[in-house]
Amino acid sequence: MRCPKCGSLSDKVLETRQSKDGSVIKRRRECLECGYRFTTYERIEEENIKVIKKDGKVEPFNKEKIIRGIKLASKGRPISETQIVEIADSIERFLIDEGKLTTTSYEIGEMVKERLKQLDKVAYLRFLSVYEDFKDIRDFQEKIKEIEKE
Ligand SMILES: [Zn+2]
Repeated sequence: MRCPKCGSLSDKVLETRQSKDGSVIKRRRECLECGYRFTTYERIEEENIKVIKKDGKVEPFNKEKIIRGIKLASKGRPISETQIVEIADSIERFLIDEGKLTTTSYEIGEMVKERLKQLDKVAYLRFLSVYEDFKDIRDFQEKIKEIEKE
């Protein structure tokens, strides 16, 4: 963001706040050149976040897709729809808060894994099996050992 006082383009974000419906982000910034503090307002449209896939293709961030993936992995598990949506929401919020307008499907997958692991180990394993492309039962055994060790 251009500093309104000296025109410098380097600043740091001191504070990020989201409007209730999440559509407007308010950022308190400090110019690194002159120290001037100013506030910016950004309208967030989730399709502005770009996701780079493994094959290099770029697609818009899609929260529904994350929700679908988690739903598949948590079928029959004691995980509620609300918890699933919360995971997807928290990932979206994280990307917005960090100002990450470009991310990778890898990074999103890692974030889902991390959150799912805390919620339900079985759903976590299922998600891993798809995400990391498990080839046979040994992949499962190795992951289970890792989980048990923790
Ligand atoms: Zn300045």
